Amino acid sequence: MKVTVPRPQKRPVAEIDFCYVNGALPSFAWPPCLQGEGHQTRDSQLLDKRETSRKAVFLDRDGTLNKNTHYLIDFGSFELIPGVASALRLFQKLNYSLFVVSNQSGVARGYFPLEAVEALHRKIASHMTDLGIRLEEFVFCPHHPEGTIAAYAKECECRKPKPGMLRYLAAKYDIDMAGSFMVGDNESDALAGANAGAQGVWLKADAGVLPLTRQVDNRANIKEFVSLLDFAESLKGH
Ligand SMILES: [Mg+2]
Ligand SMILES: [Zn+2]
Repeated sequence: MKVTVPRPQKRPVAEIDFCYVNGALPSFAWPPCLQGEGHQTRDSQLLDKRETSRKAVFLDRDGTLNKNTHYLIDFGSFELIPGVASALRLFQKLNYSLFVVSNQSGVARGYFPLEAVEALHRKIASHMTDLGIRLEEFVFCPHHPEGTIAAYAKECECRKPKPGMLRYLAAKYDIDMAGSFMVGDNESDALAGANAGAQGVWLKADAGVLPLTRQVDNRANIKEFVSLLDFAESLKGH
């Protein structure tokens, strides 16, 4: 079923209110909203670099790429879900750029510092490179309204299902959102995609048992698949 999603107006990166970006490979930039909090832009020129509009698959991390161990911070506990590497290679073959978009409220909850998330993402990115997979950038939201670390205990514009992180990437990489997907194991992942003008994909063990699509504020449908590979296979021939 073909779903038409209204194409969002493109906004300059600087106007977007978003949270935290960890560009693991190869770019690295701090978002404007944190620059006043002691961070500095390390690679600001990348924000001006535009390429031809491209399609993307935005990927949730825990429970989507790796088995969900809850508040993962140690790379030693990082375990790819079977079929994920094949799925990611297939996305690449179909000319989708890959990004990781993750809620990491463990920072706000004081379980681990921001830098530890960053370090983990660099290791994941490097591991993926060894597998022939290029993850363009990792973006994560460190906030949570009920956090214990004051700096991150807030309602923000990024925490999925809000679209802040996706909007940031869309503007930075000139992404054709209508032709792109946000995939995850939680409904909030798929909703974030729909809220950003992309297609939401919800990975569910029981997909197909429930109705395959549902309305989201009359704006977009969410597709359901049993696995990332299943979804990737569905894109063949499109
Ligand atoms: Mg998840
Ligand atoms: Zn946030």
